[in-house]
Amino acid sequence: MPVNLLDFDLEGLAAWCAGLGEKRFRAIQLFRWIHQKGVADFEQMSDLAKSLRGKLAGAAVVTAPALLSEHVSTDGTIKWLFDVGGGNAVETVYIPETGRGTLCVSSQAGCAVGCRFCSTGHQGFSRNLSTGEIVAQLWFAEHRLRGRLGLAAGERAVDNVVMMGMGEPLQNYGALVPALKVMLDDHGYGLSRRRVTVSTSGVVPMIDRLRDDCPVALAVSLHAPSDALRSSLVPLNRKYPIDELLQACERYLTAAPRDFITFEYCMLDGVTDTPEIAQELVRLVNGQGADGRSVARVPCKLNLIPFNPFPASGLLRSPRERVQAFARVLQDAGIVTTVRKTRGDDIDAACGQLAGEVQDRTNARERLVQRRGVIPIAAAGHGAR
Ligand code: SAH
Ligand code: SF4
Repeated sequence: MPVNLLDFDLEGLAAWCAGLGEKRFRAIQLFRWIHQKGVADFEQMSDLAKSLRGKLAGAAVVTAPALLSEHVSTDGTIKWLFDVGGGNAVETVYIPETGRGTLCVSSQAGCAVGCRFCSTGHQGFSRNLSTGEIVAQLWFAEHRLRGRLGLAAGERAVDNVVMMGMGEPLQNYGALVPALKVMLDDHGYGLSRRRVTVSTSGVVPMIDRLRDDCPVALAVSLHAPSDALRSSLVPLNRKYPIDELLQACERYLTAAPRDFITFEYCMLDGVTDTPEIAQELVRLVNGQGADGRSVARVPCKLNLIPFNPFPASGLLRSPRERVQAFARVLQDAGIVTTVRKTRGDDIDAACGQLAGEVQDRTNARERLVQRRGVIPIAAAGHGAR
């Protein structure tokens, strides 16, 4: 089996090249061809010696999961569905904003955390993505969009990566960290640590490891100010309750590229959005837990996400006025609070709506047409671009 070079960060590629008897600078050249130029065909890598190109052709490939479909929203948001084999598919979402573009990347097929309000969670866990499958989402999006947007050399389509697609990134830590390194590497995508965000439902020990190994921006899915409510929404809270989570956030800030943590908070009608809960949240952020005991006071920004409904959840989105009233309570208490604009909801690309599973691989394409009424992209095989 040839190795997929998207599976390597630069150190990994250098080690692999050393095994071929090649020097580190060759690995750097190769890495730049792949990630900066988007080239998958070794023959096109004109400054590599012909002998090396020959060795590569026999031993390696550069290949992304096959693209199953592409949906473009009326607001410009694009959602891609990739076939990761075994009947599983994952989704990647590109969100263009004035002056920048954000890519929302998946880390797992399904998710084991099982949050009540999340369609990926309802789907259950299938498997971890490999480093290559995580990196491929950026590789594919960046190079496809560069062509489409007509960008000049040196311009990039994706300025921000958020690990907010399907899956809990900190439950796929081993594959995540090399993928983050590729995103940050100056020979790769050269994104700053502030512009790569890992979002977690609160895997406390892995927050500490990320601080040591690759401290990028951190978003924590808080969703509730008390353990009782949070545990009912995010089952992982039973293992890592709020006070432990806040302590991990405090420790993370000693190495983080930003001086605050983003707390994400899903606005669920009648569940998380009452004025009393808003007050409780203010107290929590100010260092007082629901039981009156003190907790770590973490410099933070709050990002309120109006719930994006999906049929099986049985939950409803908070009305706009309630979201605004909730935000006002926090803002009046001096907490920086934003309300996330829902993007791409006409193509089910909004937060928590990603459920890319394709159980029956044999007729996945037919079923997609039936289910979503979309015209799937012709199977172009691996590395389809
Ligand atoms: N597993 C990670 C990252 C993926 S989810 C995490 O939970 O943080 C990305 C964000 O979308 C999280 O904040 C998550 O709580 C939120 N989310 C999930 N389902 C949602 C839904 N249906 N509506 C709004 N936000 C949702
Ligand atoms: Fe998993 Fe995040 Fe969805 Fe929870 S919100 S089920 S952690 S993807």
